[in-house]
Amino acid sequence: MLKVIVGVKRVIDYNVRVRVKSDGLGVDLDNVKMAMNPFDEVAVEEAIRLRERGLAEEVVVVSVGGSKSQDVLRMALALGVDRAILVECEGEVEPLQVAKILRGVCERESPRMVLLGKQAIDDDSNHTAQMLAGLWDCPQATFVSSMEVDGDGVRVGREVDGGIEKIWVGYPCVVSVDLRLNEPRYASLPNIMKAKKKPLEVISALDVGVSVENRLEVVRVEEPPERARGVRVGDVKELVSGLRASGILSED
Ligand code: AMP
Repeated sequence: MLKVIVGVKRVIDYNVRVRVKSDGLGVDLDNVKMAMNPFDEVAVEEAIRLRERGLAEEVVVVSVGGSKSQDVLRMALALGVDRAILVECEGEVEPLQVAKILRGVCERESPRMVLLGKQAIDDDSNHTAQMLAGLWDCPQATFVSSMEVDGDGVRVGREVDGGIEKIWVGYPCVVSVDLRLNEPRYASLPNIMKAKKKPLEVISALDVGVSVENRLEVVRVEEPPERARGVRVGDVKELVSGLRASGILSED
């Protein structure tokens, strides 16, 4: 049976309006609501469904980050995963380092499948799953919007430009999930209370053989340009002459 690892990242809640810090070197995290990356909620839900259907025997969530990342691990435990591992690191950890740490966790835990989100909504990298598959030397299925266990692997649908591509990948594999895969459940209050007693192990990156060395430097972060105000026009004639005047429509 399957042992599944799910990677979850603590990010700014998707409802929060992100503000750039005054030094232009990052975004303001002070007093900002944080939450589990939405794609990771979908990955957690899929893993729990596999276990509920008797297809997975254990689901383990892993987060790489500061001690506050325990919040998102506890949330995953409340949703139904069996145990959690926090790989505690201070400061930003870039995707290659996260992938190396996850590979170290995989070597320790020997899962048959690693489920990740297709991207973290804070850095929008969309790197970690692909790099983990490379480092762990296993097949990958990215942007997955449907999944079923089939023999010694999974048959998945991938969202690609022209539609859905169907592929089969054998275990062990890395799967990165898209939002359409499922609709995550909410945690009930009793389960949130029970989750406090579930096992949450805190380890360091060195415990899985990784000395974190970031190689990216954020040079500048900028707010998107303000959208120009719209203009209300009275009729089509006025619209066409306005478009001509602004050079969007040519005279002929
Ligand atoms: P990214 O490559 O940063 O866009 O992230 C893709 C996915 O990798 C996320 O949706 C998570 O499943 C996983 N991931 C990224 N960063 C972390 C982290 N710090 N801890 C655990 N999982 C992570």
